[in-house]
Amino acid sequence: LLDTLADQAALAIERTSLVSDIEQARLAAETERLRSALLSSLSHDLRTPLASILGASSSLISYDASLNAVDRLDLAQTIQDEAERLNRFVQNLLDMTRLGSGQLKPRADWVDPRDIIASAVERAGKLLRRRAVKVEIDPALPLLRLDPMLMEQVIFNLLDNACKYSPAGTPITIWTVRRDDTVLIEVCDQGPGIPEEDRERVFDMFYRVEDGDSRTAGTGLGLAICRGIIEAHGGRVSAQPGLNGAGTCVVMRLPVPAPAELVEPNPESA
Ligand code: ADP
Repeated sequence: LLDTLADQAALAIERTSLVSDIEQARLAAETERLRSALLSSLSHDLRTPLASILGASSSLISYDASLNAVDRLDLAQTIQDEAERLNRFVQNLLDMTRLGSGQLKPRADWVDPRDIIASAVERAGKLLRRRAVKVEIDPALPLLRLDPMLMEQVIFNLLDNACKYSPAGTPITIWTVRRDDTVLIEVCDQGPGIPEEDRERVFDMFYRVEDGDSRTAGTGLGLAICRGIIEAHGGRVSAQPGLNGAGTCVVMRLPVPAPAELVEPNPESA
């Protein structure tokens, strides 16, 4: 995986055959930065959940006789939560390599965006921990041509971030509206927000906002994947402050299919 990503970066560098030596050196340094960021992310993000799984499973085995039902369930829950975290991480890495090598070709199914939002919210159920998710849908929302699984992954990653970075119990809002030939989907939270100078870079691979106390564990991959998927759909994504300048709103703009496409939806993919 590491080699694939490094090769992709090296290939990109070779393709830009006219770049100067200085630019070559800068790109090589960037490849090296990505390689070491990937290595430290891999070791941290694999080892942390693995350590929890090993700890909880060995407690289950060693203290089986003295554990009551609640403790046993707690340990089993830890094992499941951490295994799911590993699963998300691996899924993100796979998406990232496919995006980088151009292998991720989105399907173009006719999809009602509200169905995708509903499944992402359902999938995020455990992360939400009874936090309210308010979904506001424009009644005039058209069908879009999307890859339902990839778009669900995008909304899921954004909900995951909203849960990680905003205080427990504060609500998350998903808001959609049609503006001419674009559909806007926003995922907004009431957390600390993203500083203006970081709002572009948070969509780069492995970029995380420095705030001294490294707020919470993460890989710096989630938003890079969101951007890759949205752009593969011909859309754009950005981060903005929420209403009254507080919190974070990640805004996705997706193209509404042209009227010609709308006349004859493909019955197989509809
Ligand atoms: P990760 O969350 O794994 O670090 P992401 O690519 O999803 O990686 O996010 C990149 C960085 O952007 C995060 O490390 C965090 O600093 C910042 N960020 C993302 N979403 C939010 C949010 N909803 N509120 C505040 N900061 C955020």
